[in-house]
Amino acid sequence: VFNFAAGPATLPENVLLKAQSELYIWRDSGMSVMEMSHRGKDFLSIIQKAESDLRTLLNIPSDYAVLFLQGGATTQFAAIPLNLCQPDDTVDFIVTGSWGDKAYKEATKYSKPNVIWSGKSDKYTNIPSFDSLEQSPRAKYLHICANETIHGVEFKDYPTPKDPNTILVADMSSNFCSKPVDVSKFGLIYAGAQKNVGPSGVTIVIIRKDLIGNAQPITPVMLDYKIHAENNSLYNTPPCYGIYMCGLVFEDLLAQGGLVEVEKKNKKKAQILYDTIDASNGFYRCPVEKSVRSLMNVPFTLVKPELEADFIKEAAKEKMLQLKGHRSVGGMRASIYNAMPYAGVEKLVAFMKDFQARHD
Ligand code: PLP
Repeated sequence: VFNFAAGPATLPENVLLKAQSELYIWRDSGMSVMEMSHRGKDFLSIIQKAESDLRTLLNIPSDYAVLFLQGGATTQFAAIPLNLCQPDDTVDFIVTGSWGDKAYKEATKYSKPNVIWSGKSDKYTNIPSFDSLEQSPRAKYLHICANETIHGVEFKDYPTPKDPNTILVADMSSNFCSKPVDVSKFGLIYAGAQKNVGPSGVTIVIIRKDLIGNAQPITPVMLDYKIHAENNSLYNTPPCYGIYMCGLVFEDLLAQGGLVEVEKKNKKKAQILYDTIDASNGFYRCPVEKSVRSLMNVPFTLVKPELEADFIKEAAKEKMLQLKGHRSVGGMRASIYNAMPYAGVEKLVAFMKDFQARHD
């Protein structure tokens, strides 16, 4: 099947086959990765290789730590203010969709966040021009969600904090490793693995090392970046198998030629889908402003909403699954992450044209 789910999402077939081939016995260890001690040399080699391949992929500078954590990106909504702020510190949020809004709400418990821009009144279909933003002086950080998974809004470039002491923080859960990123522009990047780089259960945090070590006293030990950084993500038992899977995906992305090549493929896939929507004379509609449309999550509606259930049912019959939009927005959504083959999007586009011809 072609799985258009927003996450957990499709993974590269060759990665799954590789994992299958060593599921029962990993190399010469005599056991499965699931059975290994996280402190043994075999697992250490797995996590170190995963980190080193991710560093190569994203060209992560040496003054940044890479942490493999648990709890999903949602846990980071709390961990970030707990680690980067004291309770009275100001932080700024640009809210371009539901995930940014959730991050903002959680931050109210541990800091004093300001929403300096929200796309809510336009149903989250755009991104502001950065020049017009009124940033708070002395904000500890400026938070963005680099790709809003539900609304399909993606930053194509990034705002620069006005105060040199303010850092940029980005939730990259749904476009992580989908294109090159200049990590040095950010103080912190975080991402749940389950869209582009692995199974759920692993959350990756990339943080500039000088920002570590200032957590609020109430910070639970499991949310304290200093503890995880000092212990190379092995303070407690990490999500070992998930980290192993992420490592296989990183290897695969490098073998494809790295993120420049990956981005080219993603652009090609997104283009044929958006072109089909835009050429449908309004039969299909994507509400997102063209310049900020996501390469990863493509939301669209039908001019006749009563046909949506049929669209989803017929697509599923043709083995194209999980095309229903998020329950909060309705319509359809095609998530076309790195691992979605071009053939999957081609098949969807052909189906859309045929469905239109039968119902227009
Ligand atoms: N941020 C974004 C952009 C997401 O898409 C999601 C989940 O879909 C989350 C945060 C929450 O992630 P998790 O379910 O891993 O906590």
